[in-house]
Amino acid sequence: MTTRDYQALDRAHHLHPFTDFKALGEEGSRIIERAEGVYIYDSEGNRILDGMAGLWCVNLGYGRQELVEAASAQLTQLPYYNNFFKTTHPPAVKLAEKLVQLAPEHISHVFFTGSGSEANDTVLRMVRRYWALKGQPQKQWIIGRENGYHGSTLAGMSLGGMDAMHGQGGPCVPNIAHIRQPYWFGEGRDQSPEAFGRECAAALEAKILELGEENVGAFIAEPVQGAGGAIMPPESYWPAVKAVLAKYDILLVADEVICGFGRLGEWFGSVHYDLKPDLMPIAKGLSSGYLPIGGVLVGERVANTLIEEGGEFFHGFTYSGHPTCAAVALKNLELMEAEGVVERVRDDLGPYLAKRWSELAEHPLVGQARSLGLMGALELIDPATGERFDKALGAGNLCRDFCFDSGLVMRSVGDTMIMSPPLVISHAEIDELVSKARLALDATAARLA
Ligand code: PLP
Repeated sequence: MTTRDYQALDRAHHLHPFTDFKALGEEGSRIIERAEGVYIYDSEGNRILDGMAGLWCVNLGYGRQELVEAASAQLTQLPYYNNFFKTTHPPAVKLAEKLVQLAPEHISHVFFTGSGSEANDTVLRMVRRYWALKGQPQKQWIIGRENGYHGSTLAGMSLGGMDAMHGQGGPCVPNIAHIRQPYWFGEGRDQSPEAFGRECAAALEAKILELGEENVGAFIAEPVQGAGGAIMPPESYWPAVKAVLAKYDILLVADEVICGFGRLGEWFGSVHYDLKPDLMPIAKGLSSGYLPIGGVLVGERVANTLIEEGGEFFHGFTYSGHPTCAAVALKNLELMEAEGVVERVRDDLGPYLAKRWSELAEHPLVGQARSLGLMGALELIDPATGERFDKALGAGNLCRDFCFDSGLVMRSVGDTMIMSPPLVISHAEIDELVSKARLALDATAARLA
């Protein structure tokens, strides 16, 4: 089949996620046929550096035969069985043990799901159940953040703070409120990052008092916002947030779906920011995206209550802890450990990327270049004014398309360009990523001049 054949069939039958169906039908999809290392290959023979690791998930890179073999062996041995009704199987048991071993010390258990969205549905159920068991069923409110992303199910969408999703999907799950995000470049440049970080944490306290401290059960946030635009909070933010949560006895949920498994140079983003969350939704890098699997890492406080006081928890999914997905996830984590992938991100690749990436700040189109570990963003600005471009110009989408043309996947969130390559990228490939991003910036600047 040719590219055109695929595109015609795609247009005829396939509704893509997060896509303007009609516009895509007119333009035609890019058909990705195979991948190796940090590169994907399309049906026209183009070799493209995957600066997004798929959707922030292919942490070990493409083409890892060990993961294929783990899947194949498990498919032969036991392709499916469930964890309901007093049964389990070796891959789920071993993966739970490995996750608890890698997680911060207070994490004692894991509840498996099929995705990050299901993990956040599970969070909602667990928070409500926990407080009900504690005799405080009124502690129903969960506070999230504007422009946070926690998935696309009704619960995930409601916990997240994406206006476009709320606009289409309402009414949302009740008793979820949102506070401002700690996005210094976008919303706080009139003050120092540190003062802005404290102001955002103060917004949390104000919201708690508005809702009634006795009514708020949990605060949910990504350690670093991913889909919102690779937003690293100011250093003052998390310590101040932690203090507020402790003051009012409110659970912390750190959504590790992107930040987990090495992205920020630690096994979890919560370790980088010293968060000690009660619940940690995980997915994506858990299996390097090779098979779908997610979960919630549960701290002792919540786990002990659910176990000792809860009786049966009426919650679970057919694919909770799916044996083949669990076997691949376990092998993925073992490989990451054996190859020192996380340490390499922290000590070598992250600092190298930061050095090269920050050179792009000198480009006239770039208002800020930031990165942490192997996640980064470029804020596009109009060189004539030093401010954002008129939204109608679509500078970010233009730059994203020029990235593709120069053989690089980066994503645009408004006029913020974001990247999150596989954690096995080499120095030479980082150089290539940076020089292709520069070419795309040049082309965008020429178009908008
Ligand atoms: N939480 C975060 C922080 C995410 O970035 C995502 C997906 O991008 C999700 C949850 C939802 O995960 P999934 O798409 O696997 O349902």
